[in-house]
Amino acid sequence: FAKLTYNVVYDETGLKRVLTKDEYPRANATLLTLVRNKELKAIVHTIRQIENTWNHNFHYPYTFIGDEEFTQEFKDTVRRHCSGEVHFEIIPPEIWNKPSDIDPEKEKAGIQKLIENGVQYAGLESYHNMCRFNSGWFYRLEGLKKFKWYWRFEPNTDYYCSIDYDIFKFMEDNDKTYGFTISLYDDPLTVETLWPVTLDFVKKNPQYVHPNGAFRWLTDSVQNPEYTKLANGYSTCHFWSNFEIANMDFYRGEAYSRWFDALEAAGGFYYERWGDAPVHSVGVALFEDKSKIHWFRDIGYHHSPYKSIPNSDKCTAPEDSGYFAPEDVHRQNCLPNWIKYEM
Ligand code: GDP
Ligand code: MN
Repeated sequence: FAKLTYNVVYDETGLKRVLTKDEYPRANATLLTLVRNKELKAIVHTIRQIENTWNHNFHYPYTFIGDEEFTQEFKDTVRRHCSGEVHFEIIPPEIWNKPSDIDPEKEKAGIQKLIENGVQYAGLESYHNMCRFNSGWFYRLEGLKKFKWYWRFEPNTDYYCSIDYDIFKFMEDNDKTYGFTISLYDDPLTVETLWPVTLDFVKKNPQYVHPNGAFRWLTDSVQNPEYTKLANGYSTCHFWSNFEIANMDFYRGEAYSRWFDALEAAGGFYYERWGDAPVHSVGVALFEDKSKIHWFRDIGYHHSPYKSIPNSDKCTAPEDSGYFAPEDVHRQNCLPNWIKYEM
């Protein structure tokens, strides 16, 4: 792929010059994060790394999304660390809160089962809201409508490699829809009916399935056969969405929107704990050409407990903590399947 830096020009005498914030014609894109006031320190930690490794050259705007008003301290502090424009967007309660058609009895039984099986965050309603919001709502917010591209980041994540090209323009010029760094297996209990609900939708609407979808990655059962079984045919492989770069027009399009309506109707964000990572992943792998999904192997990234660190002199990363045993890491890693079946 051509990785043009985009922001470097040469004057008449051949001297190299980096375009300033005001001069540089950016893509229609924003960095974005859903975050809480109490995560101020943690979000600054990550903003600094995104700035140091990348955005100090490009000055892309940031959008901070909250379900409650941000404090003045939060706003002032993040503004000091962002080299691009800063926007704050508050989610209307009717979007954030649990929809009224969720059946309380069915929800209680579903949550109970997840809790008994030790599923993290199962009993935390705000976590379910967050997953649903990130799956199908953020790109519909008033303040997001004007943007096409987003780079999602989270508090307390790390970026290790300096990237000298404009990632958004790279996506645009190479006709990519979705970019990721890490691909994992999920806990099948959180998505037990995601695949059956999806197959039902697809049977009624076969026209939406892309002939060059990443079907094998979605359904393979070699490495973790019991996962695929428990998730009723879905391998549980997904792109880890705490870092992702994508074109929101894909989500806004007919295929994803109608499928998302079917997911909402099924209620799995509350009866189970469907995550936004498997939802984005199943959507993009079914309804988009897999050649438009890009693995950013040059972005060094960490979100606890996993790191992806390219072996490159452009990257500086701390020694591995050794917290997870290698065999666990191997078991949870679905990247080999992506490479083997879909690249
Ligand atoms: P995990 O990565 O699955 O362990 O979940 P996180 O706690 O990191 O949450 C994912 C993202 O959603 C992070 O950016 C959080 O800051 C954000 N988030 C989670 N719950 C809430 C919430 O109740 N309100 C808001 N505003 N953000 C939330
Ligand atoms: Mn997180």
